[in-house]
Amino acid sequence: MSAEPQYRVDPFKACAQKVTRTGEIAVCDMPRLVAVLREAGDVVQYRLSFSQAGMERYRLTGQVQAELTVTCQRCMGPMRIAVDAQLQLALVQSEQEAELLEEPWEPYTLEGSEVDLKSLLEDELLLQLPSFPRHADATACEGSDWANWQQSEETHEDERETERDNPFAVLQALKKP
Ligand SMILES: [Zn+2]
Repeated sequence: MSAEPQYRVDPFKACAQKVTRTGEIAVCDMPRLVAVLREAGDVVQYRLSFSQAGMERYRLTGQVQAELTVTCQRCMGPMRIAVDAQLQLALVQSEQEAELLEEPWEPYTLEGSEVDLKSLLEDELLLQLPSFPRHADATACEGSDWANWQQSEETHEDERETERDNPFAVLQALKKP
């Protein structure tokens, strides 16, 4: 899939010119992200700055923010997640170059002569999402299927207890005329 023109950037030119891009992207325009979300109505905000820290040292820094809705894996209810990630990427062209990087730089391997900013932001958001999202504590799952399920379990416990405490209950019932 080729990138939409407004997100296509020549990284070398952008670094030399210290280009900064800010904007918003609708979540529904990020299909790989939509695939793991519960709702696609949110908006991603970003700021990306290209810079050059000497010969062959191409950098891309910035921030990506979004509030996203995923499905809690405990109660299967909706759950909001706020993503606010700082990007510190070194644009590299080979694995050797990536290995020479020092903290805090993360390698971003360039493929061809363009960077697709939307795809890059989508990758970053996918990295930020928990692989097994759950509400921080079970009480946040209240009103959900999980809370109902837990409650019905407790009711069953009570019934079993009553039967154990009263072994003659069955006999009593038989004696009744
Ligand atoms: Zn939950």
